[in-house]
Amino acid sequence: MKREFAVIGLGRFGGSICRELSMEGMEVLAIDNDEDKVNEFKNIASHAVIADSTDEATLKELGIKNIDHVIVAIGDNIQASILTTVVLTDLGIEKITVKAQNDYHEKILNKIGADQVVHPERDMGKRIAHNIISNNILDYLELSDDHSIVEVKVGEKMVGKSLIDLDIRANYGCNVVAIKQGKDINVSPSADDALREDDILIVIGADKDISRFEKHLVVEDK
Ligand code: ATP
Repeated sequence: MKREFAVIGLGRFGGSICRELSMEGMEVLAIDNDEDKVNEFKNIASHAVIADSTDEATLKELGIKNIDHVIVAIGDNIQASILTTVVLTDLGIEKITVKAQNDYHEKILNKIGADQVVHPERDMGKRIAHNIISNNILDYLELSDDHSIVEVKVGEKMVGKSLIDLDIRANYGCNVVAIKQGKDINVSPSADDALREDDILIVIGADKDISRFEKHLVVEDK
């Protein structure tokens, strides 16, 4: 059975989620109180409606209760975002994801029952910062306040050495969980194969350990 989603707020973030979900063949109800935004999504989402999401009766009429997952992508109007989230939790929506504008907003959303709070600008800022620090850090994903996964290009100091030679776990306390080689991802990399210049390591660990690993083995000045 197809999963049903609703995206409330069709700005850049909500609009992008709506587009991707629709492209993946999902049923998407797109909601915005701005007519122009709704018109933009008429041919993209399964249904696109003009509505004020802070109004419980309107959301009920739209059948929001039957939707599996609602994404609230109202950013600037924090009051509308909070009110909408309260209405959705009152209606017993199974999964509610909300975009937070700042840390204070995030705290409130967690308190009032949002299942998932996302902070795209902050998270993307962190990812880009890690990429800027080193040419070799390709991507960065925060797992918790102090653990992450990073994608790193094999630096000069690593080329020709095997995972056993480098002994990343013993020396730095983090783990290489996979190696990307071109389009292939090897999720159980052999510990004795020599690393090649174009290999990309996917490393998981505590931020402080990853940082030590980056400093010693990866970082090359831009
Ligand atoms: P983004 O940073 O994602 O581009 P934005 O800055 O363009 O967002 P926001 O003000 O964060 O826009 O709001 C996103 C969308 O939410 C807008 O299109 C706005 O019309 C819509 N919106 C705001 N309040 C409501 C509401 N009460 N009901 C429905 N839609 C709303």
